[in-house]
Amino acid sequence: MTATIFCRASIAMGVSATYLGFDDTDSPQGMCTTFLATLILDELRGFDLVGLPRLVRLNPNVPWKTRGNAAVCLPLGRGVGAGRICGAIDGRPVMSYVRGSSVDPEELLPLAAKVLERVAEFDCDKTNPGMVATNKKPSQRLYWRAVRDVVPLSEVERELRVVGASWKRYKNGRGIIGAASAISWRPHDRTWEVMSYRTPDRIGTERAVDKGSVIKMDRKMKSTFHNYDSESKHIAITPASPCPVLFGIRGDSADELMQARKMIRGEPPLSWLLFLTNQGTDDHIVRRRVRDLEPGMSVRVQATVAVSPRSVEGGHVIVTVSDGEAIDVAFYEPSGVMNRAARRLISGDRIVVYGSVRDSPRSLNAEKLHVLHLAVAHRKEANPLCVICEKRMGSLGAGQGYRCKRCGARAPASAAEISEVSREIRTGWYEPPVASRRHLHRPIRRMSRDNINNLL
Ligand SMILES: [Zn+2]
Repeated sequence: MTATIFCRASIAMGVSATYLGFDDTDSPQGMCTTFLATLILDELRGFDLVGLPRLVRLNPNVPWKTRGNAAVCLPLGRGVGAGRICGAIDGRPVMSYVRGSSVDPEELLPLAAKVLERVAEFDCDKTNPGMVATNKKPSQRLYWRAVRDVVPLSEVERELRVVGASWKRYKNGRGIIGAASAISWRPHDRTWEVMSYRTPDRIGTERAVDKGSVIKMDRKMKSTFHNYDSESKHIAITPASPCPVLFGIRGDSADELMQARKMIRGEPPLSWLLFLTNQGTDDHIVRRRVRDLEPGMSVRVQATVAVSPRSVEGGHVIVTVSDGEAIDVAFYEPSGVMNRAARRLISGDRIVVYGSVRDSPRSLNAEKLHVLHLAVAHRKEANPLCVICEKRMGSLGAGQGYRCKRCGARAPASAAEISEVSREIRTGWYEPPVASRRHLHRPIRRMSRDNINNLL
């Protein structure tokens, strides 16, 4: 029930709100752009959330990203009707309204910018904050380009002028790109993440999150994902950086996330907030032929294994595939079960590889593997029998055929006695363990939804 309402509230057309987007306020040492969302909601109490806060991940391959390349959009305005709780800050509930009216972006922007200016990590070279307020969303083309490609700042500012947006840029202004792109996102596929934040005195210290409670939650809450890495026994809901986030749980049901949050035992959080997100959607992936690959792209390539896998130092596996043109695909050792599957591929297998394109040497870093069809594997059991002497013939060398030592009769290479070997791999999906996945990676447990999305 909750899921449906949150979903409609955020996706329905005609919801009137003022969109506040911001990006690039964090550094590897601290802050988190989603935490800034809670600070803004806490301080700008004259505004309501009309819909849910949105956490939008953008192109994971851009070279200048600070951490996860996440931007936030808050739909703000004056709420109408009964709200629903979508968070709490220091004990005070945060409400989200299905309907509402917009406000003046010129009034909203300076108030929100003041909060950003107080907390953004301006000292970090890579941190270039940006904030946008607008009553009209930029074209969703902007989102698709920002999640798959690189968008020049000048182009974003042109788009913002078209919709009459107000914005504030800091340092090199690059944060505007993410801020505007987050606003322009229209969720065709979407998930949710409930984020929990630490009290100020604990930030930077080790997070006290009970592993047993995470495992229990992971087992019970079937629509959640990326919680726990059973291969490495690693909790994936807590970040590795010293940022204010205590944990974030991702899933396909807002309703279940509200319960999942309460199942986690550990230090008491300061606040929590539910986000609508593009995480786990594969929105960054484009279908491409090998000949059309460009460095920095995240792609889906369907091809045939051309050369049997070879191991390289570090436990990595390289597989040469071809769809008319060949490319090497690297399956790195940390990709675990996917790496082990790749080792068992043979020439002739048909596969789909998801991954990012590396420039030099031109190759594909595999992020997900779909084995479509397995070739029949053969093993030579014996040399052929001479039809005259009924004795085994001798080999003339690899691929050269056979000759009888007694009478000199010849036989082709294909005359050898062969048997079919069973394959130690099945068709289906393979993905790296939770800890080695990107935020946008659509987990296999969500892949069956492909059919649903295709029907809609
Ligand atoms: Zn013979």
